[in-house]
Amino acid sequence: MTLTEMARTTRGSNSAVEQTALETAATTRLLEAEGILDYSGHVSTRIPGRDAFVIQIGSTSRAEVNPESMLVVDYDGRVIEGDGQPPSELPIHLEILRARPDVQSVMHSHMELAIAFTMMEGVTLMPMRARASRWKSGIPTDPDPSHIKLPEQGRALARTLGPHHAVLMRAHGLCLVAESVRALFVDAVHFKENATAQMQALQAGAKPIPLSDAEIEQIERMEMRDWHIKKLWNYYVRKGLAEDVLPQAWAGDLVPTKDMLKRDHILK
Ligand SMILES: [Zn+2]
Repeated sequence: MTLTEMARTTRGSNSAVEQTALETAATTRLLEAEGILDYSGHVSTRIPGRDAFVIQIGSTSRAEVNPESMLVVDYDGRVIEGDGQPPSELPIHLEILRARPDVQSVMHSHMELAIAFTMMEGVTLMPMRARASRWKSGIPTDPDPSHIKLPEQGRALARTLGPHHAVLMRAHGLCLVAESVRALFVDAVHFKENATAQMQALQAGAKPIPLSDAEIEQIERMEMRDWHIKKLWNYYVRKGLAEDVLPQAWAGDLVPTKDMLKRDHILK
C-alpha cells in the first residue's frame, strides 16, 4: 500500500501527512527544475501534529518524486511509514530538526555555486541582494567535507548552523532551514540569486559591497515575508504545472484559489 493510499484509508483524503508529502514532493521537483537540486540533495518537512517528518526515498529521482516516494521517519531515524530507504545523509535532517524546534523544513543541496564559496581564500558569502537580508546573521561553513552519514557528523553540522538559516558545507554543499516547506523553496531561489550576484561581482574583478546593517534594517521595515512566499509559490507552482514539471493532478492541492489570492492581495 502506498503512503497516499494509507493516508486515505486511515486519515481521510487530505490528511496532514498527505499534504506535507505532496508539498515536499512538489518543492523537490521545482528545486530540481531551478537547478538547485540535481541527481542528489533532498528536502525534509515535519508533519503537523505528529512526532515525525517526511523525506524522500533516497534512490528516487529528484525530478520524479511524488507523495508515494515520501517516507515518514521518526526523530530516532526509523522509517515508520512507506516502503524504501531514506537518503544516506538522513543525519543532516534528523540532527538539524532535533536541534532546531523553530525549523519545519530542511533542504540539503550540492549546488555548485554555493560550494564555490567554500573554496575561495578570503571570500565569504554575504547578503548582497535585498532578499538576502534573510541571512543577515551570517552563513557559517561547516569544515567536514565528507558525506554526512553519522549522527555525530549531523550534530556537528547542526552546531555549525547554530541559530542561522543557512550553512555551507566545505567542498560539499549547503543546507537551508525555514518555517515551512514553501518558505524553504522561496529561500532557496533567493539564496541562488544572491550567490550569483556576489559571484558576478567577483568575476567582474570588483570588490563586492554587501548590504550594510542600515540597508538591511531599511529592507526589513518594508518586508512582508508571508505575502512574498505566497506570491512566489503561486508563480513557481503555476510555472511548474505549465511546463509539466508537476503533474496536473496536483494542481488542486497546490495552486491557491482566486479567492485566496484576492484575500492575500496577490490578485486584485
Ligand atoms: Zn550531500
